[in-house]
Amino acid sequence: MKVAKFGGSSLASASQIKKVFDIVQADKQRKFIVVSAPGKRSGADTKVTDALIAYYKAYKSADEKGIHYYQNWIIERFREIYDELGLKSPVINQIAENINHLAQLDLDNVFTYDTFLAAGENNNAKLVADFFNHSGLPSRYVHPSDAGIMVSSDPGNARLLGGAYEHIKYLNELEETLIIPGFFGITKEGEVCTFSRGGSDITGSIIAAGVRAELYENFTDVNGIFAAHPGIVKNPAYISELTYREMRELAYSGFSVLHDEALVPAYRAHVPLVIKNTNNPDHPGTKIVVQRETKGSPVVGIASSSAFSSLYVSKYLMNREVGFGRKVLSVLENLGVRFEHMPTGIDDMSIIIRSRYLTQPISKALISNLTESLHPDEVYIDRDFSIITIVGEDMKEHVGVTARATAALSKQGISIAMLSQGSSEVSVMFIVKEKYEKEALKAIYSAFFD
Ligand code: ASP
Repeated sequence: MKVAKFGGSSLASASQIKKVFDIVQADKQRKFIVVSAPGKRSGADTKVTDALIAYYKAYKSADEKGIHYYQNWIIERFREIYDELGLKSPVINQIAENINHLAQLDLDNVFTYDTFLAAGENNNAKLVADFFNHSGLPSRYVHPSDAGIMVSSDPGNARLLGGAYEHIKYLNELEETLIIPGFFGITKEGEVCTFSRGGSDITGSIIAAGVRAELYENFTDVNGIFAAHPGIVKNPAYISELTYREMRELAYSGFSVLHDEALVPAYRAHVPLVIKNTNNPDHPGTKIVVQRETKGSPVVGIASSSAFSSLYVSKYLMNREVGFGRKVLSVLENLGVRFEHMPTGIDDMSIIIRSRYLTQPISKALISNLTESLHPDEVYIDRDFSIITIVGEDMKEHVGVTARATAALSKQGISIAMLSQGSSEVSVMFIVKEKYEKEALKAIYSAFFD
């Protein structure tokens, strides 16, 4: 059996929901359907989840006009879909009641905000189940409390509780097609608690792991994952298959198709995942697997991301000083600064940090604390770096992969400020000045894909 998750753009209108129905009906294995809240119909539109946030803010500030405005807006949004789907059931009244009722919840309860947010997915799941039944596919709406999605009490950042999979497994015994709202679970106390934004992907992954699905299909509005950012590289290739480790590296370095945390449950349960397009379901999409069968280019994808800084520390004979690295890192730790990478020389270290963490006071404190505890020859922060990352598990089987990338950069006259490769050899990072980012990405892409 398969789990199919449909994102907000796949459920933004009646015509999109009809496509979803056709997709589900076309394959009897698609039994577990996880839905997002209705998303944007066009660029300028508002997502239902964002409207729910605005509704909550109006309620919190006792803005009666705002409360009515958003209640109407959200209910009308659902009603329009309901009407266009030709439904006649009482489900729309239940939805309206549920949306209106939110403005009676206790504002002192820390889960009230999450209950507002979750109303988008929760009501959409009822609507979708109703439409599927109306169209002749026996379906059942399953609330996360009935699906066994038991989570920790961390509002906006729920984690699945140990033991939840035991309960989720029982979904296999239900006969109908199951429509499960994404994005939230239920705490032990019975409160609604959401995952972080975009968290319906996480629900899909949890259900896939819990029911031991043969495949987790994540339907969105793109054909799959490009090997490089299409805004920078013209017509980049699609990745047809990649491993979870490769996806994790690419996601970290700037590819954002799926929610980061969504990979974990499916990966641990060894369920393959495929990203597919609701608007083009015949396209094979991009498959994410535990172990890749296709062998080809040693590099599957190239990511780039900007806004990094380098904290540079040097001291003659640093390598002989026991505890030097620990002292550097404890200065960072004491100031609550996280770092990303740490390329080192014999007498120097560069600590790569996201620039947004290096505010003026933090930067000042870092320099003075490092000076005080290490007496370095030099310590300074250099800003405006980008990281270009090449990713591929097969790189370790090939000789000359890094050489190919560095040759491409040198041909463009781009100097590499730093280079970082972990011993797993899943990725190699080239750190360049931000002004070279686009050119560097294009050059490396051509070296591997053209
Ligand atoms: N609707 C939620 C959001 O916009 C969750 C999701 O769509 O995955 O973040």
